Amino acid sequence: MVIGAGISGGTIARELSRYALRVAVLERASDIPYGASRANSSMIHGGFDDKPGTQKARFCPRGNKLYKTLHEELDFKYHNCGSYVCAIGPEEEKHLTMLLSYGKTNGVPGLEIVNGEILRGREPHASREITAALWSPTASIVNNFEASLAFIDNARTNGVDLFMETEVTGLLFDGIYGLDGIGRLDGIDKSKESKNGERARIRGVSTQRGDFTARVVVNAAGVNSDLISRMAGDDSFTIQPTRGEYFIFDKSVGDMVKSFFFSCPSDKGKGVTVARTADDNLLVGPSAVAQEDRENRDTTRLGLEEIFQGAVRLVPGIPRNMAITNFAGVRANSDKEDFYIKALDRPRGFINVAGIKSPGFTSAPAIALHVVDMMKESLGDLVKFEPNPKFVPERRHIPRFSELTMEEREHLAKTDPKWGQIVCRCESVTEAQVVEAIRRGARTVAGVKTWVRPGTGRCQGGFCAPRVVEILARELGVAPIEITRHGGDSYMLTGKTKERMPSERMPSERMPSRRQS
Ligand SMILES: Cc1cc2nc3c(=O)[nH]c(=O)nc-3n(C[C@H](O)[C@H](O)[C@H](O)COP(=O)(O)OP(=O)(O)OC[C@H]3O[C@@H](n4cnc5c(N)ncnc54)[C@H](O)[C@@H]3O)c2cc1C
Repeated sequence: MVIGAGISGGTIARELSRYALRVAVLERASDIPYGASRANSSMIHGGFDDKPGTQKARFCPRGNKLYKTLHEELDFKYHNCGSYVCAIGPEEEKHLTMLLSYGKTNGVPGLEIVNGEILRGREPHASREITAALWSPTASIVNNFEASLAFIDNARTNGVDLFMETEVTGLLFDGIYGLDGIGRLDGIDKSKESKNGERARIRGVSTQRGDFTARVVVNAAGVNSDLISRMAGDDSFTIQPTRGEYFIFDKSVGDMVKSFFFSCPSDKGKGVTVARTADDNLLVGPSAVAQEDRENRDTTRLGLEEIFQGAVRLVPGIPRNMAITNFAGVRANSDKEDFYIKALDRPRGFINVAGIKSPGFTSAPAIALHVVDMMKESLGDLVKFEPNPKFVPERRHIPRFSELTMEEREHLAKTDPKWGQIVCRCESVTEAQVVEAIRRGARTVAGVKTWVRPGTGRCQGGFCAPRVVEILARELGVAPIEITRHGGDSYMLTGKTKERMPSERMPSERMPSRRQS
């Protein structure tokens, strides 16, 4: 059993699906990806940032190599764009020398320090202030939505069960632990511990939908991974949620940079990045704000100003008025320098894949291989690793209409007229794509956006959202009023206008919530 369907849970589930095992993934959200895997820079790092000898330094360059073939196998967007860490002045240049040496030790190929003129020859919009840059040719960018979905989608094809909106609230143990054998999410109730406090072996998890039994539980719960770990009796790390804010700019300015630009970290902070996304927008961010709240993904005027100023330091001409939206993600930073990947001795069968901070997205496929090896070595008596005869390594994404030739579009429209119905004008998304996204598991407006992009363009859903609601309602066989933005009570509609009393329709009146109507 895997807790969490982020990139960590998804890559692990897919690796496990190579074997004839019963695997379940439990995810508390309505859509995938939801946590840090949803809102990040989507960078497949070269692997030169991390201190040699750490797990990050080991898994990041290996993950980078794996993505090269994985994107072909699993059909998610990936561009090998390369990256520059940009230095302004001699102090920052010292940092480049250190990164170059880390990178060489970590086995990162092709690293090179270039001067400002060479950089500007390749990247004409780069600031004249930049004096040198570390070039990393293996760095790449992916569509993080597509990549996260691809691993889970393929795992499901290979027999993995996915349970959405299923929140793990406790762990179940065999052996002498507690009166009811349940560790609660808010920490372990000491009054219920047995005399020697042992939790001999994992037996499963409890959720708001009931209990699930499992011999092995992998904790890949991101920002909540310390809470789940504490239920198993391991409180050796604590998550420090750290928010990062971003701007997305219109595609018309996406080509201001060809590669991924990093600033040098300074005593003022880590600095921001400027990048062309896998879908040709310009991405600027993130900030780094430590917070108590594990869910707060607000953007702030101050945070956005800070990242904009950081971005124009690298690329001065970025036009602020071309920003189409902003968003924030929360890093599962821990109080440990490194990732925390460990199979506990007690309870047996519990594995932490926790504190997966940056470069966690890059490292995930390598972490997944490592976790399966760990299971084979230490849990062979609990789980038999025999090949899954039905394993299929490939999967295809839903055809991207905007990238097809006219002949291909015509052909599809002849097979099904829904391919000729444009739902999202900005991103050229058709009704057929929306229907297929729903068939593959999208249940909300945000879920459809994640799969096929309506609402990601310049109008941010102003035109297509009502159409998406309509199609969701039709395909799911529910009333439009039941459709949510991202699950829970995030309803898109509050009620039928004409059913309301005239007195209720005063313009100044606040609309009642759907629940009240
Ligand atoms: C601002 C920012 C920028 C970043 N940039 C990069 C980058 O460019 N490159 C890179 O390599 N990495 C980057 N990272 C790091 C990367 O995004 C993370 O390391 C990675 O996404 C972690 O994946 P995960 O699956 O471990 O966690 P998550 O993606 O957070 O997934 C955890 C899942 O567990 C679920 N969950 C939580 N609690 C429960 C529960 N009780 N029951 C059931 N499910 C539960 C959550 O809903 C979530 O879906 C960045 C992160 C952030 C936030």
